[in-house]
Amino acid sequence: VVIDPSQIDGGRVRLDREQSHYLYRVLRLHGGDRFIAIDGGGRWWLAQLCAEAQAELLEELAVSTELPIAVTAIVGLPKSGFDEIVRQTTELGVTTIAPVTSDRTLLRPSRQKLERWRRIVKEAAEQSERQIVPDLLDPVPWDAAIAAVGEARRYLCVARGDDVPHLCESLRVSSGEAVAIATGPEGGWTPAEVERAIGAGFQPVSLGRRILRAVTAPAVALSIVAAAYEV
Ligand code: SAM
Repeated sequence: VVIDPSQIDGGRVRLDREQSHYLYRVLRLHGGDRFIAIDGGGRWWLAQLCAEAQAELLEELAVSTELPIAVTAIVGLPKSGFDEIVRQTTELGVTTIAPVTSDRTLLRPSRQKLERWRRIVKEAAEQSERQIVPDLLDPVPWDAAIAAVGEARRYLCVARGDDVPHLCESLRVSSGEAVAIATGPEGGWTPAEVERAIGAGFQPVSLGRRILRAVTAPAVALSIVAAAYEV
């Protein structure tokens, strides 16, 4: 269960309605049962339900489920399927998800959609036992997104990129560093968007010879990064 540090008082954590519902009704735990509490910022505790809506933090656990590099997935918003992208990239270890509205993006997400996506990030982080809950940024136009990438090695995934290297070949990031990988919407990037990204230091890369769906490409990119740093 993801808790907010402000819920901790001494060695106890006050559970909110949603957390209590999950622990008592969904998992069917009772007083005395144990569960893992994580603060979304990297700390884990073994916790024990001790009273209605309260748990005792028994011991802090030393865990390591994060990738050794920070990964930002810059994603051209697809018309549908962003739920899947959010869930899968969180499971695979993304640090930040940056949705972008590009020239060929048809979706303009509402506030409710964003809240829904942030709930999915939290659920996926819990289920994958992540130490952190990835950040899902507010959507911004492509140019703003590329300008906002801080110190990170940048890759732009391009379909039909027969003349560009595979991401596997190009990934040269040391532990502790950061990488930003951009994938486009259903219609792909426009030539002008590719040009501006290259001007901003993005290296075009391929994810293989087949054309992947906009929903599949971010998960494939993240899988390559995870394999490169965990195997
Ligand atoms: N007709 C579009 C085009 O040619 O760009 C296809 C876009 S594809 C459905 C959506 C996005 O997934 C692309 O913009 C790209 O970022 C990524 N993608 C799909 N297949 C890829 C591949 N084989 N290599 C690299 N990126 C790929």
